[in-house]
Amino acid sequence: MRFRSLSELKRPEPKEVILTNLPQEISMTVYAKTKAFKINDLVREIHQKSYEWYGFTLADRERPEIIADIGLPKNDQNLQDFTTLGPERIVEYHESLPEDIIINGWIHSHGALKYKHFSHTDEENQATVLDFVTARLRWVIAKKEVPIQDLQLLVKGEFEEQELAKGSVSLITDGAISEATIMETIYGGFCYSIVIDDEGWHEQEIHYKERGVLSGYSMVNKKSSGIVFIDSGKSLTEADTALLSKKVEENIQPNINPPPELIERM
Ligand SMILES: [Zn+2]
Repeated sequence: MRFRSLSELKRPEPKEVILTNLPQEISMTVYAKTKAFKINDLVREIHQKSYEWYGFTLADRERPEIIADIGLPKNDQNLQDFTTLGPERIVEYHESLPEDIIINGWIHSHGALKYKHFSHTDEENQATVLDFVTARLRWVIAKKEVPIQDLQLLVKGEFEEQELAKGSVSLITDGAISEATIMETIYGGFCYSIVIDDEGWHEQEIHYKERGVLSGYSMVNKKSSGIVFIDSGKSLTEADTALLSKKVEENIQPNINPPPELIERM
């Protein structure tokens, strides 16, 4: 057999219907932004020095794509240039939140460091947060064809067990059919990641994870993202700042004599 051109060898693209788009840009309230930079100020004020810290970006369950607030969990160790985030810390913090508030990402500060990028350690932390967030924030984003070569069509009650040895997938229907397209649900999730410093600099990424229920398809990727600040009408009051000071005092734990193996990277 001869093919007229190579293009004839290509299989047709699987059908795909997009049902929901994951966020392509980060939206954050001015309140959340103000609070994030306020934490930097309070760290320096209360702990007399700049330290790295991390927190979670929070959203209303009904609007998971908008960062409405910043949560400051107990940080395991705040060195000047290292901050860690363990899965158990996320779970613990998540359980402390009211039902209608969810975690949609994380934020951390490089403090006074002149390192204006995400680091390798940040990437590891991001993977931890992405797994946690996408396990809870799962959208049906598409239906996608599962291309099946050699689909075997059988009629219920009208075949012998041995016939199942043929075909890569058997579809058993209650009536004779001659064609079938199998489309699987693609679940998708996202997680925001923001890094800031003491001077007002910030950079952000959106991390994505997709999974097909049938084929085992899975995809993880990320992109740099712009950020849009939304005025929600809420501002950081003196009472908010007082509460935040308490959190910074309790939850940021400067370790000024770190064991050498913790003095890190970047
Ligand atoms: Zn970092």
